[in-house]
Amino acid sequence: MSVNYKTVVQKPADKQWYLLGIATGLAITMKHLLKNLFNKKDMITLNYPEQKYDYSNRFKGNHILTVKKDGAIRCTACMLCATNCPADCITITASEHPSAEVEKYPISYEIDMLRCVFCGYCEEACPVDAIRLGPEWQTPGLNGAEFNYDIKHLAYRASLKGGVQSVVDDKERSKSGI
Ligand code: SF4
Ligand code: SF4
Repeated sequence: MSVNYKTVVQKPADKQWYLLGIATGLAITMKHLLKNLFNKKDMITLNYPEQKYDYSNRFKGNHILTVKKDGAIRCTACMLCATNCPADCITITASEHPSAEVEKYPISYEIDMLRCVFCGYCEEACPVDAIRLGPEWQTPGLNGAEFNYDIKHLAYRASLKGGVQSVVDDKERSKSGI
């Protein structure tokens, strides 16, 4: 029976303790720090929140539950969005509508934004254009509960002018074939 012994090669001190690597890394960091301190106009990072990136209007950000002209939400609680959501973050509780002309409506509609991956499948799945991903991208919150968006937030939040900006014009929809 033969035994193989590996030869242990002693590395030079700079390789063994990564001294050269650490010194090089620090030198690069200092170079960029000084460059940015004395040449702010060429800095490629934005000073958020004072400066904000100007995203396209087609940006798919925070969800909007659209409403009819009378202010009632369009959602018919068909569950297609929740069924198609890959992150399983939409929770809907359906109920019979008091009006005989409307079959169902959601008494609660919630999206857990901490789970949402902004894939847009909910928007694609909706047969009545009741949910859209809007251009808003800032989602501040101090605790988990603040990221659980309910109907009040999704359809009537202040940034939607209390719901005015979530009204969908039926003529506009039929023209665009939605
Ligand atoms: S954008 Fe995607 S992950 Fe987010 S709620 Fe819609 S379907 Fe779910
Ligand atoms: S938002 Fe659209 S897809 Fe989701 S339950 Fe309401 S009507 Fe159905």
